[in-house]
Amino acid sequence: MDLAWSDEDRRFAQEVRAFLDAELTDELRAAGQWMTSVYADHEAGMEWQRRLHARGWAAINWPREHGGAQLSVTQRFIFARECALAGAPPLSPMGIAMCGPALIGHGSAEQKAHYLPRILTGEHFWCQGYSEPHAGSDLAPLKMKAVRDGDHLVCTGTKIWTTHANVANWIFCLVRTGQYDRPQLGITFLLIPMDSPGVTVRPIVMTSGEHIQNQIFFDEVRVPLANVVGEIDQGWTVAKYLLEFERGGSAYAPGLQVRLARIREIARESGLLDDPLFAAQVAAAQVRLDVLEVYELRALTAAARGGRPGLSGSVMKILGTELSQHLTELALEAAGPYGLAFQPEAGAAGGPNLIPHTPGVRGMREAAIAPLKYLNDRAGSIYAGSNEIQRNIIAKAQLGL
Ligand SMILES: Cc1cc2nc3c(=O)[nH]c(=O)nc-3n(C[C@H](O)[C@H](O)[C@H](O)COP(=O)(O)OP(=O)(O)OC[C@H]3O[C@@H](n4cnc5c(N)ncnc54)[C@H](O)[C@@H]3O)c2cc1C
Repeated sequence: MDLAWSDEDRRFAQEVRAFLDAELTDELRAAGQWMTSVYADHEAGMEWQRRLHARGWAAINWPREHGGAQLSVTQRFIFARECALAGAPPLSPMGIAMCGPALIGHGSAEQKAHYLPRILTGEHFWCQGYSEPHAGSDLAPLKMKAVRDGDHLVCTGTKIWTTHANVANWIFCLVRTGQYDRPQLGITFLLIPMDSPGVTVRPIVMTSGEHIQNQIFFDEVRVPLANVVGEIDQGWTVAKYLLEFERGGSAYAPGLQVRLARIREIARESGLLDDPLFAAQVAAAQVRLDVLEVYELRALTAAARGGRPGLSGSVMKILGTELSQHLTELALEAAGPYGLAFQPEAGAAGGPNLIPHTPGVRGMREAAIAPLKYLNDRAGSIYAGSNEIQRNIIAKAQLGL
C-alpha cells in the first residue's frame, strides 16, 4: 500500500482547508470542538450539513449518480482529517452513513429517487429502529409486528435506545412480518414517518445527562407497502448490509488524533506531561492510534475495491471505540482537579455547549468537559453491536472458531 499523498491529494487537502476556512463559522467550530457527546448539537450539525451539501460534500462516499461526492479512499481520509483538525461538527450518521447506503444497495429506483435527495438536504432526518427491550445483541428474535392490511402494513410494538428519535422525522425499522423456523426469516426492513398516528416517543436520559436516546411505541401504525425496502420477510439481508456501514463506513483515527493532541496540550499546561509515567501512557496511546490509522487506511482501501466494509468494520469498531474510551481516561487524568469540579456550564451533553463562552485558559476549559466525555463514551463499546459481539463475529468469520 502506498501511503504517500499524490500532488492531486495535496491539492484536495488545500481545497478542503479553503472550504473550511470560508464556511466553518465560529459557532459551528465551537459546536464541533467542545462536544461532550459523540454527536454535535442538532441545529449546528444540520447547518453544517446544509453547507456541505451546497458544496456537494454531504455524502463523501456515495456514488456521484446519487448525489454523493464519490471521493477516493485517500480523499475521504484527508477530508475527515481536515474536518477534525478544524473542529467541524460531525454529521448525524443515521441518514447519510446508514439508511442512504442501504437504499443505494437494496432500494427500488423509486425509493432511491425519493429518499436519497432528501437525506442529503436534511429534509429527512433519520433514526434507526433495530433494538427492542428483548432484542439487542441477538436481534433476530425481534417482535415488533407488522400485519398486512390491503396495501399497508399495520405496525405494533416498541423500539428502544433509538438515538435522535426525539428530533427525527423518519425511522428505518426492522419489523416482524412472518414466523419461520429461523428467526432471521420473517423480518422486513420498513421506512416509517415519525409523524404517523400511533407513534409515541419517550426520552431515556444517559448517565452523562444527555438526552438523545429514546424508547418509541408503535400502536397500530399504518405504513404503505411502498415503504418496504427489499423483499417482505427478507429484511435481515438489508439489516446486515447496513450494519457493515454503521460499524466500518468511516475512520476513527482522524478525530482521535486531534483528541490525543489536545490531551497533550492540557497535560503540558498542567505540567503532567513532565511525569514520565503519564508521558509513557500518552506515547503508548499514540502508538495504538497510529496502528489504527494504518489499519483503517488499509481496510478502507480494500472496502473501496470490494464496495463494502465487511469484517474490517468489526475490527475498526473495537479498536476505535476502545481507544476512544482510553483517551477519555487520559483526558480525565490530564484534567486533574479541573475535571473534578462540578461545572454545570459544561452540562449540556450533546446539546449547545456553553464552555467556549466562559472565561479561562483554553486547555482548562477543555479539561472541564472531560468528565462528561468520559461518561458519554462508556456507551461506545455497547452501541452499534457490543464489542463482545464484534469479537464473536471475528472469531467465527475470520478465525473459524
Ligand atoms: C448510546 C446508545 C445508543 C444506541 N442507539 C441505538 C439506535 O439508534 N438504534 C438501535 O436500534 N439501537 C441502539 N442502541 C442499542 C444497541 O445496539 C444495543 O444496546 C446493543 O446492541 C446491545 O444490546 P442490549 O443493550 O440489548 O444488551 P444485551 O444484548 O442484553 O447484552 C448485555 C451484555 O451481554 C453481552 N453479550 C450478549 N450476548 C453475548 C454473546 N453472545 N457473547 C458474549 N457477550 C454477549 C453484551 O456484549 C453486553 O455486554 C444504542 C445503545 C446505546 C448504549
